[in-house]
Amino acid sequence: MKALQYVAIGQPPEVREVPTPEPGPGQVRVKVTAAGACHSDSFVMGLPEEDYAAGYPLPMTLGHEGAGIVDALGEGVTEVSVGESVAVYGPWGCGRCRQCAQGKENYCERAAELGITPPGLGHDGSMAEYMIVDSPRFLVPLGDLDPVDNVALTDAGLTPYHAIKGSLAKLGPGSTAVVIGTGGLGHVAIQILRALTPATVIALDVNEEKLALAKDVGAHHAFLSNEDAVEAITRATGRATVTAVFDFVAIQPTVDLGSALSGVETDLVLVGVGATKADVGMLARPFDATIRSPYWGSRAELMEVLDLARAGLIDVETESFSLDDAPEAYHRLHEGTLRGRAVITP
Ligand code: NAD
Ligand code: ZN
Ligand code: ZN
Repeated sequence: MKALQYVAIGQPPEVREVPTPEPGPGQVRVKVTAAGACHSDSFVMGLPEEDYAAGYPLPMTLGHEGAGIVDALGEGVTEVSVGESVAVYGPWGCGRCRQCAQGKENYCERAAELGITPPGLGHDGSMAEYMIVDSPRFLVPLGDLDPVDNVALTDAGLTPYHAIKGSLAKLGPGSTAVVIGTGGLGHVAIQILRALTPATVIALDVNEEKLALAKDVGAHHAFLSNEDAVEAITRATGRATVTAVFDFVAIQPTVDLGSALSGVETDLVLVGVGATKADVGMLARPFDATIRSPYWGSRAELMEVLDLARAGLIDVETESFSLDDAPEAYHRLHEGTLRGRAVITP
């Protein structure tokens, strides 16, 4: 079968011919119908050799957003049937610890110790004709949802959903939510905020086309993410601080901006992959202002996100690419010229 693999450090991924995998006991083989390309894949492919080698194999089939048709069952699997259309829940856990028992396998207490990784982020992922899923627990029914239009909900939907759920109690009438970075995750975040809250939603990005997309998907305001952003927000809302900031970039300038927008009880939610600095403590930030860094989401939340799509409340903007053109999808992601999410259709 064909697979898009990261083969050599610092080089673009390649479409290669690899053996079709067989499901072992307890595993499920899925014939992939769609696979989304995430900025985290670009992050991983940008790691220097020593950091990459510490967590990832070479070659590695990319793709941690996946959907497909159940194709073959390993010994003992009875929970799913061949032919079923499914979405793959990506943040696999042990299934038995306290976090996993609540469906929060994204926060599995034992994943690292047991060597459990998400597909495409530690072992072979979804950018191939077939993928192996370690347990039917990681398969959520897609039903009538179109896999190409909805595969990105497994991460670009689930991650912002989980991030926003954590601040939902604060986002009541009169509240303001800022979304920094309105790409794959951010443009879904805007829709989730509009669907779940009465908040005024403000999008910030460095790219005018992404700001146009933000407005198209429901942002009330969209401004360039720069030193003038605080003033633009103050003019738009009448206040210099906001209720919550969801930062899908999380580099020093955006974290500084999020801090500048933080008032009493503001949630600064850092979703973008990074490690930045911020002053904390009684004298450094407004009272009860928080900073948190959520990771992906729970299995139950993935079901809820799919239900939002079924209800027509969220809709991922996708550009689709064949598996042969998948390297081009990552090139476009890297350039910042995609509208929404790139989806590969093997
Ligand atoms: P993307 O490339 O589709 O979108 C990023 C957006 O940020 C683009 O629109 C880009 O123009 C914009 N941007 C870049 N620099 C900016 C700046 N200084 N100010 C404002 N906007 C800026 O990426 P994506 O796939 O949506 O991923 C977003 C981030 O989320 C990445 O860092 C990714 O690794 C991370 N991520 C985290 C989790 C998690 O669980 N925490 C899950 C998935 C992705
Ligand atoms: Zn991702
Ligand atoms: Zn666990």
